[in-house]
Amino acid sequence: MSITRRDFLRLSAYGFGTTFLAACGFKPADAPLASYPTELPALSPTVISQALTELGFEAFASRVKTYQDEQYLYVESNGMPDHQLMVGITSWQQQVPLPQSYSGSNAWKIPLHPIIAENPVSAKTSLYRGAIALAVNGIPIFNALNNRGDDAFLYGELDQWGGHAGRADDYHYHAAPLYLAEIVGVDKPIAYALDGFPIYGLAEPDGSPVAELDEFNGHFTVDGGYHYHGTNTYPYINGGMRGVVTVNGDQIEPQPRTTPIREALQPLKGAVITDFADLGNNSYSLEYQMSGQKYYVNYGVNGSAYTFEFVDASGAKTVETYTAR
Ligand SMILES: [Zn+2]
Ligand SMILES: [Zn+2]
Repeated sequence: MSITRRDFLRLSAYGFGTTFLAACGFKPADAPLASYPTELPALSPTVISQALTELGFEAFASRVKTYQDEQYLYVESNGMPDHQLMVGITSWQQQVPLPQSYSGSNAWKIPLHPIIAENPVSAKTSLYRGAIALAVNGIPIFNALNNRGDDAFLYGELDQWGGHAGRADDYHYHAAPLYLAEIVGVDKPIAYALDGFPIYGLAEPDGSPVAELDEFNGHFTVDGGYHYHGTNTYPYINGGMRGVVTVNGDQIEPQPRTTPIREALQPLKGAVITDFADLGNNSYSLEYQMSGQKYYVNYGVNGSAYTFEFVDASGAKTVETYTAR
C-alpha cells in the first residue's frame, strides 16, 4: 500500500497518525473475518432498537439535538462541524461553509425502523443529488462521487476531514468521517445512512476486524440487522441504500432543504485552501493561495444579512452583501 501525501494528511486528520502508518498493512481483507452471515437472514423487516439508534449523537449534544416519534429520529444542527475545515482542498468551487437551518420542519429524519429493500439502490449510478447519510456530529454525507460521477476525494475536492462547501455554501462530507470513531467510541456509529442503518468505522462495534463487506460497504449482523462501515477507499461510506428509501429526482426524500443565498460559483483553477478560522459570532476567514500569493474570503452572517469581503493578493478588498431569501 503506497501512501500519498494526501492520504497521510487524511489519516493524520483522522487521528490514526503514526500507529496506523506503522501497521500499514491494516485493512479488512488482511484480517481474519468474523463469522457474520452474508445472506439476508430470515428475520425481515429488520428493526433497530430505538436505544441503539440514539447512540453516537449524544457525543455532540451541545451542537446536535435529537428527538423522536414512532417513525423517525429527528436530528437538528447548524451544519457546521467543530473541527477545522476546508484546508487541503485543491479543486475549489469558491463556495464557503455557512451555517444552515437544519431544524424544525427542516430537521434530518432518520428512520427508526429500517427495512431491507428488495431492490437496493446503488450510489455508483444514482443518488448524485443531496445527502445519503448523516454523521453523528450533524454534518450531512453526500455520495462519494460528485455530481459529475467523479471520486470527489481523488479529485482534490475534499478537505482533510473529507468535506467541502456545496453550491448552497453548505458544508458536507463525501467520505466517511472516520475520526469520529475516536470521539464516540468504536462501539457506536459514526453516521447513519438515510435508510436508517448505522455506519460504523474501521472496526466492528465489539472491536474485532470488519467483516466482509458487500458492494454497499455493509453486511448483515448475527442478530438479523444490517450495518455499513466507513472505509479509506471507495465507496468510503455506504455505497448505496440497502434499506428502503424514497428516491425523488435522484435524491433521497425526506431530507432538509438548503437555500442558497447567492449564485453558485465556478471552479477557481490553481487555488489551494491553506487556512480557515472561525472568528466567533458567525464570522469566518478562509485563506487560499494561487501562484504562491495569499487571498482571503472574510465572511459572516448577522440575522438574515450575509457579508463577504474578498481580499486579493495586493490587499485590495471587494465587498458583497446578500439577504437570506
Ligand atoms: Zn459536495
Ligand atoms: Zn460490521
